[in-house]
Amino acid sequence: MSWITNELAKAKQSTLYRKLPNYQIHHTKIIASSNDYLGFANDPRVNQAAKECIDIYGTGSTGSRLTTGNYDLHERLEKEIAYFKNMEACLLYSSGYLANIGVLTLLANKKTIIFSDEYNHASLIDGCRLSGATIVVYEHNNMEDLANKIESYYDVSNKIILTDGVFSMDGDLAPLDLLHRIKEKYNALLIVDDAHGTGVIGSSGRGTSEHYSITPDIVIGTLSKALGCEGGFVCANKETIQYLIQKSRPFIFQTALSPGMVGAALKSLHLMQVEKRHVVLQEKAANIRQHLIKHHFTVPEGITPIIPILLKKDELALKMQQQLELQNIFIPAIRPPTVPKDMSRLRCTIQATHRCDELTKIKDAFEVLSMQNNFNIS
Ligand SMILES: *Cc1c(COP(=O)(O)O)cnc(C)c1O
Repeated sequence: MSWITNELAKAKQSTLYRKLPNYQIHHTKIIASSNDYLGFANDPRVNQAAKECIDIYGTGSTGSRLTTGNYDLHERLEKEIAYFKNMEACLLYSSGYLANIGVLTLLANKKTIIFSDEYNHASLIDGCRLSGATIVVYEHNNMEDLANKIESYYDVSNKIILTDGVFSMDGDLAPLDLLHRIKEKYNALLIVDDAHGTGVIGSSGRGTSEHYSITPDIVIGTLSKALGCEGGFVCANKETIQYLIQKSRPFIFQTALSPGMVGAALKSLHLMQVEKRHVVLQEKAANIRQHLIKHHFTVPEGITPIIPILLKKDELALKMQQQLELQNIFIPAIRPPTVPKDMSRLRCTIQATHRCDELTKIKDAFEVLSMQNNFNIS
């Protein structure tokens, strides 16, 4: 096993060595880095819905959806997600990660060319690699680069354009309107992973496609972010969903989502539509973003609750994480390989449930950091 010892020793010497943080019990800390954008991950009503479903159905679903694991609950959640996303049909997976693997390994193969944004989520990259397709990476959100690249494959019949809806580390949107035009022109399939857009973006929180008023061929999402639960889903037309049910290995060979989790997701999906928390979320995030820009942090403009504070160097990002922790604020440094080299950053995310006093503390802490690190001079 010496190679494990050696590789680990190498990793330990690097500033990129990863340790598991443990902050969930520190309720005195302000967490400004969670993906629980609407605050449903610990909502008493969602918790209660999970408990009630456990009392009725038990803790385990006991099998694959194709054997003993298919409950009316799963089908109801699929119907409601499809309705919410304004798509024909929906299929649940046990995670967003596996939804991506399941879709790409089935729909793409050696004969397929996948045009993939360079900042796409790791699960999309893994899905591309596992599919055996030819992968053509285009520059992040660069439509000219995409058009040039897809033009040179004009004659290939199976083409897929693959993108995140909201990019998880930068918080910017993919220009779905332009991507849709390119997809139409070249007769490609447009697949959008809207993990961070669902419940957050668009006038009623339906996601990035609502924001651009377009319908991609396939929208993938997760129950683990704005819905505060766990699990993944794929929305598409009925035919595509039927095909996934027949052939998608992560769907067929995994135990169905547990009843408690499905019940919880149904509840937060309802609450999401009734309470419209995405509106106050957008306001709070815009307020923090403007404050950071005013205090000379390198923060891009944007409309999502994901606010990257670009610091370039790993050491600086780590140092700032520690300085914030002294103020009881938890915002982790994001370093390679999650982001490209020299693109280290703090990834600040805002939640609809952040209280005003918490937001003020975050703003004050960054104001101090700006002075401590001389950002106000440069
Ligand atoms: C989080 C995330 C996933 C994975 O979703 P899980 O349900 O956590 O497996 C997939 N794609 C993107 C863009 C994500 O941000």
